[in-house]
Amino acid sequence: MDYLPIFTKLNQRRCLVIGGGEVAVRKVRFLLKAGAKVTVHSPVFCNELLNLENDNLSLITQTYTAESLSGAWLVIAATDNRAVNQQVAQDAEQLGIFANVVDAPELGSFIMPSIVDRSPIIVAVSSGGNTPVLARLVRAKLEAVLPNYLGPLARLAGEFRHKVQKLLPTVESRRRYWEQIFNAGEVASLLDKGKQDQARAVMTEQLADFKPKGEVALVGAGPGDPSLITLKALQLMQQADVVLYDQLVSQETLSLVRRDAKLVNVGKEAGRHSVIQETTNELLVKYAQQGNKVVRLKGGDPFIFGRGGEELEVLVEHGIDFQVVPGVTAASGCASYAGIPLTHRDYAQSVVFVTGHCKEQGQPIDWSSLARPHQTTVFYMGLMQSEKIKQNLMLNGRSGETPVAIVSKGTRTDQHVITGQLTQLADMAQGVQPPALIIVGEVVSLADKLTWFGEQAPTSYAQSLVNLA
Ligand code: SAH
Repeated sequence: MDYLPIFTKLNQRRCLVIGGGEVAVRKVRFLLKAGAKVTVHSPVFCNELLNLENDNLSLITQTYTAESLSGAWLVIAATDNRAVNQQVAQDAEQLGIFANVVDAPELGSFIMPSIVDRSPIIVAVSSGGNTPVLARLVRAKLEAVLPNYLGPLARLAGEFRHKVQKLLPTVESRRRYWEQIFNAGEVASLLDKGKQDQARAVMTEQLADFKPKGEVALVGAGPGDPSLITLKALQLMQQADVVLYDQLVSQETLSLVRRDAKLVNVGKEAGRHSVIQETTNELLVKYAQQGNKVVRLKGGDPFIFGRGGEELEVLVEHGIDFQVVPGVTAASGCASYAGIPLTHRDYAQSVVFVTGHCKEQGQPIDWSSLARPHQTTVFYMGLMQSEKIKQNLMLNGRSGETPVAIVSKGTRTDQHVITGQLTQLADMAQGVQPPALIIVGEVVSLADKLTWFGEQAPTSYAQSLVNLA
């Protein structure tokens, strides 16, 4: 970060502008808006400046000397003479006065950002002097999306601040109150129509009745690449009080959670599913009943091999409100990032997602349907079962030459794709790092041509044997 954005209070502070032309006018206007006492030193003044003169603005006909700086908080050098501007910056530097040089930001100690003014909300945008045009474009975009009622809304919130502090003693409850006010949009919509008194009344009413209510959002975190989460997931993660997350959720994704939220790892270890699932259910209920906004963050999509349904049933039993946010499931993520279209007019008209981790007492798998031709079959949790998958598919008629891929750590920067034939599946699985997905079907043959993500092209198992020999 080359520049630290700070917001300075200039009210009644003495600010100096050197130069009396049009560039100076713009800067003077901003300083006056912030309530500064502005002095302009220049041998001549343009008409616009002369017209602006008022109690807070004195125009002094004088060429710049180092004495001009005495008593100033900050100075803006706005002459059209680079040498003078440079001198101003140098003198200011020696005296410890903040200086800005118009059109030559590198000379001064501060720069003036492009601003979006919804006072008291102010957004400042700067490119650090690299490209003011781009900074202005960003500003224009923000200008378009930030509604005009933002200013009145922030002022009204300021008016209520002490009252809210008195009535709601914990930081947590205050935050929830404000989120309720800002998210519901009723107050904003009244302010938008200029109905200040009604907006004030709604805020007072909601403050009197305010009781935080716990709720749970079952959120799909996608397969790993954090940019694959949905906007809704991001919003909920940023509003959460507590986040219960799985082993599969990547660190980068977790870093998007609101900083003050409590993070609880409820990752499951193989073989201990049922015990830990019960604990997770209890924690979900406990945190929600305490009035928290709970996000249950699951790898991929919560409704695909994610036990999402089982957790929701427990919430229903306890009368806890919930919502479900879908995520990109591993099959979609891995297939896209490995360049393997799951369906293709020439190769596969259907796709099946199946778990390779078969519960002993579970329903028997219908292998004949998984071995169908013109179909892509995707195995989740199949790494340890690769020998069984190979045997059963071949016994049920899938050719041993059917292309297969194992995608390990799909969509993450360390994704690894191995391709080969069904007969080689068990050997291919040796040493592969979980989590990994097995994709079986002719579509896999496109991976070589369509590869686009990561440093490495797919590793062909046959080729790796040749290389070893
Ligand atoms: N609900 C998740 C699946 C959970 S089951 C989803 O919709 O994706 C866990 C299995 O998902 C793993 O054993 C693995 O087969 C697969 N998986 C999840 N993330 C993966 C990733 N990034 N790369 C490869 N496989 C992944």
